[in-house]
Parts: sequence; structure tokens; C-alpha cells
Amino acid sequence: MTHGDQRAAYERAVAGKSRLFAVWPGQWSSDLFEIDDLDEFAKALGVKHDEERTGLKDHVHEVEWTKDPYGDDNPRSQYLGIDVILACGCSINDLRTFAVQMKEQRGWVIATSGGWSKRGRPNGTTTYSLRARRRSLTD
Ligand SMILES: [Zn+2]
Repeated sequence: MTHGDQRAAYERAVAGKSRLFAVWPGQWSSDLFEIDDLDEFAKALGVKHDEERTGLKDHVHEVEWTKDPYGDDNPRSQYLGIDVILACGCSINDLRTFAVQMKEQRGWVIATSGGWSKRGRPNGTTTYSLRARRRSLTD
């Protein structure tokens, strides 16, 4: 039996090489549960894309971005505040997932620590204020 390394365990389980168990520790005894819904398990771990939770489709997003007009524009700062609109209709509920996707799709390095915000516009679009590494930003 192994423990830890959940991604490797998931991959072995998918391949049918092993079964996954979760231990629920109790005061007098620990209960052992077999994880039979691998799909849910993978989504919970972030191994598998979860569109419902993240608001993000697993596709190439249509991203429109501008420099945040109210942001701190110190050229010596590594990060730049940007306003992002997703013209493809996705919404960002999980910044970490969006950051991974944008790294893959455009090479952007989005700051996942620190603040970000979203605001709705009267025309129905949502603008997200994020910070991205200045030099990673491309058109
Ligand atoms: Zn999208």
C-alpha cells in the first residue's frame, strides 16, 4: 500500500492497477472507504478539469485585456495590473485554474497570490482585475 502522491495514485487507479482508499480517522477506530467515483476524486484534486467549479471551459479562451487604468504603473514592478474580459463567455471562479490555462495558451504568468477582483458591467460583461508578470504579456 502507498499513501501520498495523489496524482500518481489516481493514474494507477484509472489504469486499473490499484484501488483508491481514503481513511477517515476516528477516536477509537479508523474507517476505510474505497473511492469509487474516480471522476469526482480527480476534480477535487484538480487533476481533472472541472468546468462547473472553475467557470472555465477546457478550451482556448478569447481574452481581451487592457492595462488597468487605476493600477500602479511602476515600470520597475515585475507585475502589471490588467483588466481582462473573457469574450468566449467563460467566467473566472478559480484564479489558479485560469493562471494555468493562460500559461499554456499564451505564456502569461498571472499572480495567484494577492488580490484580484471581478466587476460586472451594465452591458453584461464581467471585467476581471488581475496582476500578471509584465514581460510575459503578449497580445
Ligand atoms: Zn473560455
